Parts: sequence; C-alpha cells; structure tokens
Amino acid sequence: MPIYEYQCEKCENQFEKLIFATDDDQVVCPKCNSKQVKRQLSSTSFLNSSGIGTCAAPASSGFS
Ligand SMILES: [Zn+2]
Repeated sequence: MPIYEYQCEKCENQFEKLIFATDDDQVVCPKCNSKQVKRQLSSTSFLNSSGIGTCAAPASSGFS
C-alpha cells in the first residue's frame, strides 16, 4: 500500500498520506490547506512491506 510523503511548499509542513489511485491530485496540506504540496516516495513504506520476496518495482504511476 503506497504511503507517500509530502511536503507543503507554503508552510513546509511534512506529512504522510495513503494514496489510492486517483487521490493524488486532491492532497492538501493538513496544516494550511494548501494544495501546493510536492510528493516524495516514502522509502520506508516499501521496506516495511517487502517481506515476501517481491522486490517490488517502484510505483511508476504518475511519478516522473
Ligand atoms: Zn502547509
């Protein structure tokens, strides 16, 4: 389950959010409600869930 880290470009608040498919463009900063947030891949979420041999490829959807 993809957990992304975001950082707000307005107040620099950092937060994590579970993303389901099309939620991605609806993310707002929980602190100041700004939509100017930039996403970063959370490496920890992939590490934590990789116990089952699948060396999962990085999520490619929308990440460019
Ligand atoms: Zn903010």
